[in-house]
Amino acid sequence: LYVDHPLGEGQSLALTREQAHYLFGVMRLNVGDGVLVFNGQDGEWRTDVAIANKRNGVLVCQQQTAPQRNPPDLWLIFAPIKKARTDFIVEKAAEMGAARIMPVQTQFTNSERIRQDRLQAHAVEAAEQCGGTFVPEVTDLTKLGTLLDTWPEDRQLSFCDETEAGSATRLAGATPGPWAILIGPEGGFSEPERTRLAALPQSHVVSLGPRILRADTAVVAALTLWQMALGD
Ligand code: SAM
Repeated sequence: LYVDHPLGEGQSLALTREQAHYLFGVMRLNVGDGVLVFNGQDGEWRTDVAIANKRNGVLVCQQQTAPQRNPPDLWLIFAPIKKARTDFIVEKAAEMGAARIMPVQTQFTNSERIRQDRLQAHAVEAAEQCGGTFVPEVTDLTKLGTLLDTWPEDRQLSFCDETEAGSATRLAGATPGPWAILIGPEGGFSEPERTRLAALPQSHVVSLGPRILRADTAVVAALTLWQMALGD
């Protein structure tokens, strides 16, 4: 369970209404039962239920069960598409170990707005589901141009482009260090965007194979290749 509290021996954790409902209403836990929690910073802890009501409750930290483990420094940058597919992208990126998930507005991006809080909640759920101790940060929608204007010198960028000929080998040959993967919208990138991206010294144009993948499939394929090369 993800909790927004510092964790340490004897620390009391007040539950939100939703968490209390889940633990005591759905999972039917009672006072004295154990619950594993993490907060994205202090590793995983075993807690005991001290107070169990349907709308609130308190857990008390007993013992650390795993140290904090952060994923490699990888950003997943993507152009948001339809709501359900964007949700899928955030969920899969969190499961597959992206350290930061960054929706970006490109020339052919249809959504002008995202619900950052909702997407962050999906990332939390995905982190809970896969038993990690880390929750990736989901940033707010940024313009691609703005992101490239302030691109960090030491961060490599795998720019996934279906117009690039060749096989999916470059991502699999990535070298260690801060990385980012960029996936475009359903309409792909515009020519000015391609030119700008190709001119960025840290950018590597990457093919994911000869077929045009849907953006959500491309995210999973690119993360898989990157994990093969540099994953933990
Ligand atoms: N513009 C394209 C079209 O309509 O023909 C399709 C874009 S594709 C659905 C969405 C994004 O997925 C692309 O911008 C790219 O980042 C990524 N992508 C899909 N297939 C790819 C491939 N074979 N190689 C590299 N990237 C790919």
